[in-house]
Amino acid sequence: MRIHQVENAVMAAWRAYPIRVVSRQLSRCCQSSRLLVRNELAEGWIDAICAVCGKNEFLRHAEFEELDLWVQCPICQNRAEPGRQEFYGFYCAECGVFLRLADLLPQGTGAPPS
Ligand SMILES: [Zn+2]
Ligand SMILES: [Zn+2]
Repeated sequence: MRIHQVENAVMAAWRAYPIRVVSRQLSRCCQSSRLLVRNELAEGWIDAICAVCGKNEFLRHAEFEELDLWVQCPICQNRAEPGRQEFYGFYCAECGVFLRLADLLPQGTGAPPS
């Protein structure tokens, strides 16, 4: 299965749009939404940061499966299945493509200064 690559400029434009993907699990610290962001150090990894204080909790597998995102296969247009191929993402077994979720998430900002 090959990783589907989108042009960098296209991805940058997409990530600049202020839409956010959130976990269904609230943060333990503030009982607030947890926004999914790209881990700044490890490519392909996803963090889930508290919307109030910025504390990071890793995205657990069960949470990823609950996201219910509709990701369309770029080749056959069918819905890609959520799965994991080293990283969380979506795959189409028919076409042999994998789309990493981290690729479309904004960069994590970490905890804001207190
Ligand atoms: Zn918090
Ligand atoms: Zn396909």
